[in-house]
Amino acid sequence: MSLIAEKTTPFKLCGRENNQEKTVIEFGKTSIGGNELAIMAGPCAVESEAQLLEIAGYLKKTGVSILRGGAYKPRTSPYSFQGLEREGLQLLNRIRKATGLLVVTEVLDQHTISEVAENCDILQVGSRNMQNYSLLRELGRLKKPVLLKRGMSATIEEWLMAAEYIMSGGNNEVILCERGIRTFETYTRNTLDLSAVPLLKELSHLPVIVDPSHATGKYSLVPAMCKAAIMAGADGLIVEVHPCPSEALSDGAQSLLPCKFSNLVRELRDVAALAGKTI
Ligand code: PEP
Ligand code: MN
Repeated sequence: MSLIAEKTTPFKLCGRENNQEKTVIEFGKTSIGGNELAIMAGPCAVESEAQLLEIAGYLKKTGVSILRGGAYKPRTSPYSFQGLEREGLQLLNRIRKATGLLVVTEVLDQHTISEVAENCDILQVGSRNMQNYSLLRELGRLKKPVLLKRGMSATIEEWLMAAEYIMSGGNNEVILCERGIRTFETYTRNTLDLSAVPLLKELSHLPVIVDPSHATGKYSLVPAMCKAAIMAGADGLIVEVHPCPSEALSDGAQSLLPCKFSNLVRELRDVAALAGKTI
C-alpha cells in the first residue's frame, strides 16, 4: 500500500474528507442535524397503550416531536422482560398515527427489519448490535433513517466503520448516538464520553445525538448531562421518560417523570439558544 493510500481516511462515506456538507435528515416539520435540537423521549420499553398515550400527551404539550420506546428489548438477562414485540410495534404505530409524533424504536435482528420499519420513522440499532454486520448491511438497503448507538466498548473508529456498513449499502441517513462506554467506574451505569461529540463533528458530517439515560443509569444525573451534551455540540438528545419509574419494566432508575422532563425541556431551550440551536 502506498503512503498516500495509508493516509486516506477509512471513513469514505461518513467522513468529512469526501463530504464537507453536514447531513440533515428531514421529516416534514422536524429535522435532525440542522439548526433544530432534536429531542426524542419516551419509555425504555413499550408496556401498554395507556403508558404510551400518557407520555405522548406530555411530549405534545412540551413541543417534543419524537417518541422513543422499545418493542423488542435486548436485555442482559433472558429472564427479564423482553418487550411486547409485535404488539408493541402496533401500539407505537397507532400512537404515531393518532398524534403525528415520529417514532424511534429498536430493531434487534434482520428478520424483523420490515416489520419494525413499517411501524416507525427511525430504526434504532442498540449498543449490543453495533457490530452486527449482517444487520447493518440489511439496514443499508432500507430507505429509512437509522439511529446507530455506540457499542459499549467500541472505539470511535469502530463506530464510524459500523456507520460505513449502513451507508455503503446506499442508506445515507445515519444518526450517531453516544450512550456511554464501559469504564472502571461503578457509580454510574456507563461513562458518558462527551468528547466524542465534538470529535465526531470533526471527523464526520453525520448528526450526533446523546443518550444521557443509558450513559448514567441515574435519573438525577440526566438534566446536567443533557445541558453538557448541548454545549458539546450535540444535534439532539434521547431521554427515557416513564409515568411511574418505580414500576417500570425496564430502566426505571434512569427514567424521568413526565413533569420533570417537561421542566427540563423548558430549561434546555435557553441552553440550546446558547449553542445556536432551537427547540
Ligand atoms: C435502549 O435504548 O433502551 C437501549 C437498550 O439502549 P442501549 O442499546 O444504548 O443499551
Ligand atoms: Mn433503556
